[in-house]
Amino acid sequence: MVAKQIAIDGPAGAGKSTVAKALAARLGYLYIDTGAMYRCIAWLALQQGIDLSDEAALTALAETARVDLVNGAGGYRVYCNDQDVSEEIRRPQVGAAASPVSAVDGVRRALVRQQQALAARGCVVMDGRDIGTKVLPHAQCKIFLTAPLSVRAARRASELRDKGLDVDISQIEAEIAERDRRDSTRANSPLIQAADAIYVDTGDMTVEQVIDHLLQLAKQGE
Ligand code: C5P
Repeated sequence: MVAKQIAIDGPAGAGKSTVAKALAARLGYLYIDTGAMYRCIAWLALQQGIDLSDEAALTALAETARVDLVNGAGGYRVYCNDQDVSEEIRRPQVGAAASPVSAVDGVRRALVRQQQALAARGCVVMDGRDIGTKVLPHAQCKIFLTAPLSVRAARRASELRDKGLDVDISQIEAEIAERDRRDSTRANSPLIQAADAIYVDTGDMTVEQVIDHLLQLAKQGE
């Protein structure tokens, strides 16, 4: 008996997408990276020179943009209005812009609606900030995944280095701390642990250990 909906929330760099993707693959579930959806809207806003405080323009973008999350032979790819933006949306500037963009009511309303429609298609692993509290409040398995800030910054730095980008770890740590502060203090769906979520600190765990642990929790979550 395995939970049909698995919600994974937590701060930036906790490893949510890595483990959520692996968990979905092991279970044969759909994986939905909701952060990628907010990043796409932020990416579009930067491309089009839209002011990040223009709530009406950002809402219109979120209501009209087409975001496709495709898990195929080429891995997990993210398309925004039919353009493959998988790499570009991972840039730190896009992550930083996604935070104010995601605080806009209309943006959240549009994306939460799409996320719930995707989840209605079948068994899912979904990760983000408000999945257990807002998007899938009835998920049978809810996880709050975190790790100390220094560990999260080191992991993010190594991911970026692997992609050939120049990194300054103290700058990454400051950016993550600022993003967490914004995400946790915003009025609309702030990042908080759902009352029925299980807290998992991955600071001393390998990726494999986290995946195995979450698999056990998903099996008990039915
Ligand atoms: O998870 P990721 O780092 O890709 O998310 C980028 C940003 O999108 C987060 O910092 C947060 O501001 C926003 N987000 C959100 N709600 C979600 C997922 C992401 O507000 N469910």
